[in-house]
Amino acid sequence: MYQFNPEDYSDQLVPLLKKLETYKTLSPKELARLVKKHTKTNGDVLSKDEIIRGYRHFAGTHGLAPFSERVVKLVAMKPIRTQSGVSPVTVLTKPFPCPGQCIFCPNDVRMPKSYLADEPGAQRAERNWFDPYLQTYNRLQALHNIGHTVSKTEIIVLGGTWSFYPEAYQIWFIKECFRALNDFGTHDGRDQVLRWYENMSTELKKKNIQRTSEPETNKRSLADHQIDGEAMKKTYNRVISEQYTAPEKLGGFDGYQTATWEELEAAQKENETAAVRCVGLVIETRPDNISEAEVIRVRRLGCTKTQIGVQSLQDEVLDKNKRGHNVAATRKAFKLLRQAGFKVHAHWMANLYGSDVEKDKQDFEGLFSDPDFHPDELKVYPCSLIGSAELMQYYKAGKWHPYSREELAEVLAHVFKATPEYCRLTRVIRDIPSTDIVEGNKLTNFRQIVEKKLKDEGVVVTDIRAREIKNGTFDPKDIEFKVIQYETSVSTEYFLQYVVPEKKVRFVQKRQQHTDDIILGFLRLSIPKEKNFIEELTDAAIVREVHVYGSVVAVGKDSSSKPQHLGLGKKLLDEATRISTQNGFKKLAVISGIGTREYYRMRGFKDGNLYQVKDM
Ligand code: SF4
Repeated sequence: MYQFNPEDYSDQLVPLLKKLETYKTLSPKELARLVKKHTKTNGDVLSKDEIIRGYRHFAGTHGLAPFSERVVKLVAMKPIRTQSGVSPVTVLTKPFPCPGQCIFCPNDVRMPKSYLADEPGAQRAERNWFDPYLQTYNRLQALHNIGHTVSKTEIIVLGGTWSFYPEAYQIWFIKECFRALNDFGTHDGRDQVLRWYENMSTELKKKNIQRTSEPETNKRSLADHQIDGEAMKKTYNRVISEQYTAPEKLGGFDGYQTATWEELEAAQKENETAAVRCVGLVIETRPDNISEAEVIRVRRLGCTKTQIGVQSLQDEVLDKNKRGHNVAATRKAFKLLRQAGFKVHAHWMANLYGSDVEKDKQDFEGLFSDPDFHPDELKVYPCSLIGSAELMQYYKAGKWHPYSREELAEVLAHVFKATPEYCRLTRVIRDIPSTDIVEGNKLTNFRQIVEKKLKDEGVVVTDIRAREIKNGTFDPKDIEFKVIQYETSVSTEYFLQYVVPEKKVRFVQKRQQHTDDIILGFLRLSIPKEKNFIEELTDAAIVREVHVYGSVVAVGKDSSSKPQHLGLGKKLLDEATRISTQNGFKKLAVISGIGTREYYRMRGFKDGNLYQVKDM
């Protein structure tokens, strides 16, 4: 499974590598063109990982010059992925029932609820049996092979509703992610994990049940069970119970996919000083699954951020789309998560059944004008029409239709204009393959189209993503410190940031957006207004996030021109201490990722139960 043998592709790799050796620089487009000219015999293109492995294997032979890092860099050059300072590792949970019945939600029975088998990353998860160890380890390996530093990672757990999975599965899932981080570079446990799945598959075969990690085989064997949104003979939950949950019981999954809190805590402890550390852990769930107890439980797993499906701030729209919760549940979830210091990454949808362009624009504004919300990060998902979703029935009956490009562009332009400086617009369109979309926008670069339109109109956008430093360079004397203060129903929030005026930053590539300044790092400080439900946060100001940008720099490696080496993290913490003291607080708590505990210990924070706390 993991054995890519360069010799099998020498006919493609050697000519490609010879060509690459002649280049000094190479744009991503030029590289893609070259790679397409040397496809495998089945038509697949060689991945960057395979090209670099091939280069390591063939360099100095077959007429190629001796190995040179220059060639690796040509291929590995990937300007975006790790320039936020941390390497993201996305892992999917297994297909499992979801408590929601949202009419817009895809029902792909090969995937956890709401994901599509053709989406980027989904088949990768399927090939790895949706196993957290295999997914994490292989992702780290792939990043490492294309020249990325993986010493700081953010684990992003996607799939259905996290809080609905059995607790033992959740603990096991996270423990296995940590185990892969801890093992990477010192021990390779993949074969052992893989053997378990293969043995289980063989045992199930004896009972005439087919379980495989092969996407093509699964596609064929589950074809008859796929759901047609127009007819809906069976629900997703029913098919999953029949095709996964019941066979998994027979296959002994319950006994394998389980762990204790003690085992998780041991893996977390090990990660505090591991070479590959988890600096952030994200899960996604529904607002009505959030309670005081759930917030504490999720924190115990090591979680620092939650993705939460808001979708709409109108009860009527939620109701029409069968969300199964109201806006009051969303208000409560935001309140509890903020009090517990979590970063709140909200999902909001446009073009839902029952809404329209004007309502959408107003609804979006509510996210930032209503003190109950104020998300830190946002994914905007305009509703897409997917064949397996119940929405098909509404579409066929003429009750709902997808926005035209003009309507969609109008809403998204408003989204950009209405997003404040302290929020990151992570996405404004979901990356759904066009083949899955029945009707409506199929352009996945719609963000760029809207950004260009705004730029041409001279509109200044302020969201965090538009202002990230990426590969820009600047003179440290131009750095400015800025504080934005805003009120929520449970706190006064301070968004502290170090910026450089945009005109003082030199960029390699032309920028998509028009912004006033460029952000180098920021800190989110929460000054609570009421008593906290978490004992150890009583009378404490809370640091919810510290983020300093710059290409990932390995621990101990110098890179003095990057923001991470200007001491901005420490300066931000000093400012947070000052503001907290000014507000009469004597304690400063931080919701630290497991892999950042050492960092905070060195800055005077002491370990509490779920947080680290400093007396001021
Ligand atoms: S809660 Fe989320 S995953 Fe579940 S049906 Fe609704 S949108 Fe889909």
